[in-house]
Amino acid sequence: MNLKQKVKQIKEGKLSAVENVMQFGEKIKKDNKKLNIFLHLNENSINEAKEIDSRIKNNKKTGKLAGLCVAIKSNICVKHLTINCASKVLEDFTAPYDATVIQKLKAEDAIVIGMVNMDEFACGGSGETSAFGPTKNPENLELIPGGSSSGSAAAVAADFCDFALGSDTGGSIRNPASHCGVVGLKPTYGAVSRYGLLDMTMSFDQIGPLTKTTEDAELVLSVIKGQDNFDSTTQEVNFKGKPRKVLGLVDTADFATPEITKLVTEKAKELAENQNLKIKTVKLPLDISLETYYIMVYTEFFSATRKYDGRRFGKLIDQFGGPEVQRRIIGGSEITKAEFEGKYYREALKARNLVVKEFEKIFKEVDAIILPTVPKLAHKIGEEITIKELYAYDVFTVLANLAQTPGISIPLGKIDNKNIGIQILADKWNEKQIFELAKNI
Ligand code: GLN
Repeated sequence: MNLKQKVKQIKEGKLSAVENVMQFGEKIKKDNKKLNIFLHLNENSINEAKEIDSRIKNNKKTGKLAGLCVAIKSNICVKHLTINCASKVLEDFTAPYDATVIQKLKAEDAIVIGMVNMDEFACGGSGETSAFGPTKNPENLELIPGGSSSGSAAAVAADFCDFALGSDTGGSIRNPASHCGVVGLKPTYGAVSRYGLLDMTMSFDQIGPLTKTTEDAELVLSVIKGQDNFDSTTQEVNFKGKPRKVLGLVDTADFATPEITKLVTEKAKELAENQNLKIKTVKLPLDISLETYYIMVYTEFFSATRKYDGRRFGKLIDQFGGPEVQRRIIGGSEITKAEFEGKYYREALKARNLVVKEFEKIFKEVDAIILPTVPKLAHKIGEEITIKELYAYDVFTVLANLAQTPGISIPLGKIDNKNIGIQILADKWNEKQIFELAKNI
């Protein structure tokens, strides 16, 4: 049953919103300790559900998401709930207002069921950097669930909610979606308001849905998208999807394991055959993706975190942030030293421009690009890996953030019993293109 069908059932009284909340509540009660997904639950969710049920009973208007339960990454403000970015720095911080995306979900009668775990301040790709312990992968408790929206992906995979919201700065929606076997969409930059999102890297961050199916992701996006006076980068758009002719396939042999490259290539060929599309091999600037991304992240993250000075919000981040947060703060303060006169950031901006140009060129030749979401299989929680190895997980996801284009990860299959996602990228505002292809996979 997809989300539209579930809403229909709720509106027809076949399932009440209260029952829906309670069913998830029971599962959460039973398994959350083991999985470490929810950091805080919304104590008022049953009352909100009752109110929706009573409107349905009295034939009053209810929204597109009536009675559905949503899990929210702990860096998106939900009024009166604790939002701590999985950090000691903001341990007891209560959100003073609803983020725009939350207002929109509530206006359509979705129920926020709680706030979920993540990598601390969204820095990480494995779900292990949370100050409150790693999120577990519901399919195999020993494995990382991916990150940084680890709790959002795991909550969907564990049936703890109907859908979840995450944020994606360099892959943080798509990466955990891939490891947990769910769908994760990063919309075009500017499609969804960032008002009320605790920023990690402002020029990359985008909020998006994690769901069981592509149809569900499309539904959630239709609710949260749109121009917002509180975020000047947003625009009101109708997503496009021009008739498809050519599929771009990325040669990932130098970056991904042979098994992953093989699986994704086979799928792309199958898709092209079914859909009568030509395949064209495209070369993405993968060799500069990580360096460009991380210089910009270190710089912008350092700047973004200066507000956590121990006086205005929570505790001093330079003291109470975890190791990965500290690494980025120290790195960012080094890169931005006055004597360098901004040269590293400027160089990174030039490289970013090059990525933008490359994407523009490629999307003149192909309608969408197919590649893996992550280059290697999930490691075990706690396994020693180097920072370089950790950052290398992002090689296929960060380019869409650099180019501000949309991308989706959908489940493709398993290798060694570990989930593998396939990624579809398209030109700016071509979300429809992505959805159509994803549905055909
Ligand atoms: N893994 C990437 C990083 O650590 C992506 C993080 C994100 O998208 N929030 O920066």
